[in-house]
Formats: sequence, structure tokens, C-alpha cells
Amino acid sequence: MFHPRALGLALIAACGSLNGCDDLGKLDSGNAAVPASLTGFIGSPCTKDADCLYDGGFCLPASKGMPDGMCSAECSQYCDDRVGHPTTFCVARSALPRRARSRVTAGACVSRCNYGDYPSGGCREDYGCQQQARFSEPARQSYTCLPGRADARLPDCYQELADAGVGFEADIRPPDTTADGARTCTIQEAIWLEQDILGVSLVYEFDPSLQTTLAACSLGLSLADTARELQAHDVTTIRHMGTYACRTVGGTSTLSRHAFGDAIDISGFHFSDGRQITLVDDWEHNTTAFSTDEGAWLYERGRSWHATGLWSVVLTPNFDNAHDDHFHVDLTPGSSYWARETASSEVVGAGYFGPAPYVD
Ligand SMILES: [Zn+2]
Repeated sequence: MFHPRALGLALIAACGSLNGCDDLGKLDSGNAAVPASLTGFIGSPCTKDADCLYDGGFCLPASKGMPDGMCSAECSQYCDDRVGHPTTFCVARSALPRRARSRVTAGACVSRCNYGDYPSGGCREDYGCQQQARFSEPARQSYTCLPGRADARLPDCYQELADAGVGFEADIRPPDTTADGARTCTIQEAIWLEQDILGVSLVYEFDPSLQTTLAACSLGLSLADTARELQAHDVTTIRHMGTYACRTVGGTSTLSRHAFGDAIDISGFHFSDGRQITLVDDWEHNTTAFSTDEGAWLYERGRSWHATGLWSVVLTPNFDNAHDDHFHVDLTPGSSYWARETASSEVVGAGYFGPAPYVD
């Protein structure tokens, strides 16, 4: 699987005494904080236009107030992206330092804050993660890297998640509405999680090629702890069926936690020895007298995730047949609910909706 940081490390390994590596072991691109894999594109350091290797690319140099220079391009609303580089964003020329504006007539392409590439603050040295509106679409805002300090409104959760070792991009999501238009959904502290979470891949069941997952930052923190727990069981991949979705709980007008971005439907696991365990094939319904190791293992995951407070709500296939193929886990504030077997459905804390006989 391609991973930008892995590529950076591969290039670092190629450093020798003759090819300009500094004492941090990174290729010398004029800024020790920038890995060699992150040069030549929008947001990268530069000294001249030829350093910015893409259509319409030019260099906003250090002499114009852009520390170590910054590759940009003219834009009217959107900018191209490149695999392995932070996602781009088109901002008004007024977002640039005054001296740098002469090169731009409308909007300028910059990069978004990427805590995978730059774990300390989401941006390279001397650039801060700042909230900006998209040029010609002011209602759409995101976090971008620009010269100067980080935005004071930046959520603390971002740095906490980066310090936990999780790679992601920061974003600001405009409010969304449910299909019937009746309810509004917003993600607090939105992030695009990288597929690799502390060495465990988070793979979307219906499109495994998706490289990022939209979620609330709080979901990222719980997924990091979940990945750590699963790694101890030699899990390499978590398969899931979705995080954010602007919808209500089936048959009600209550917003699902998916509408807040702090729920995920986990459908299965891959192990380092090639084994796979899925909820649809291996869950044993309405029993704790398991006939298979897989059934016992799945049950113990749900039970321990809830018991340790990793997730406030854990719904298993025992809950109803809509959950037959996944664990629904979420971070409902104040809730503690573990939907277990039929006869003695255990109530832990508030929020019990049972009993939950298995119906197929
Ligand atoms: Zn769910």
C-alpha cells in the first residue's frame, strides 16, 4: 500500500555524505522539516518556478514573505491534487502576505493541514494551520497552511490525535441535511483519517480503494485505541461499512450518531497470518456458550471495548437484523450501552433500547 511517510523514509535511507542530507537524516531541500517526498507540488518549498513541477505551477519565494518559498498556482475555485501530497485548497490572494500577492490575480492554491505529513501542527516550519474560505465559495472553509501562527480556533483534538501517531487532514464541513430535508448534520472537528491507523488498515468494505475516511476527531482517538487493542491480537485490517452519514435512526426522527461522524460500523478483521473473521459469518447469535474460537473472539471484542469505555455504545448482531453483519460502535455522550444476548440482556448505564431478540 502506498504511504507518503513510508516513501519519505525510503528516501531518507538513500541519504549519504555526498548528496546533501542534513543531520536529521532528511534530504536537504532548504527546509529540514520537509521530507524529500513532499517537494515539487502545491505547498512545497521552492526557490524558483522550475521547482513547482505541474501545470501552471510557480514559486512564491521567500523574498516575498513565504518562508523557504511555497509552490502555488492560480485558481478560481479548485486546485489539482496529487497522490502522496496534502490535499489542496483555493484561497483568495488576500490570504497571502501582501508582498506575495502580485503574482496572483484571483485565487492561490495552497495545501491543507496534514498531520500525517507534519505531525507537529499540520504544516511545515514557519507555516501555521489557518482557517480560510474557498475563493469564490466563501461558505466552504477549511484549514490551510499559510505563513505565520496557527489559528487560535484550531481544535485541541487535532494535536492530541497527531500526538497519538495518527495521520489525518483537518477540515471544516458545511452543515448537511438529511434526505427528507428535516434535520441538519454537522461534524465537530472534522478529519479525513488516513487508511493506516497505527499500523492497522481501515478499509471501506464497499470501496477498498478509498484512502481517507471522513469522521469527527473524537472518532479518530477511539479508533486509535481500538487499533492498538486489535494489534495485540495480530489484526492487520479493520473492515468497515461507513462512518459519517447524514441520516436518522431507522424508523425515527432522531439523528443517528453517524450524522455526527462519531460512529463506525465495523464488519470484520484480517490477521497477519491471513485469517479473516467477519461479523456476518462468525458471530454466534444470542449465546455466550460459543462453539467456535471466532465467535468467542468477536464477542470478547465488543464486550471489552464497552467495558473499557473505548466506545460508549456497542451494538452487536444480537441487537436486530439490521446489525447482522457489523458492530455499530459510537461515542454517544453520556451513554453506555452494550446490546447483548436475548434472555438476560444486560443493561449497563443509560440508553437501553432492548430486549433485542435476534430476528432474521
Ligand atoms: Zn452504525
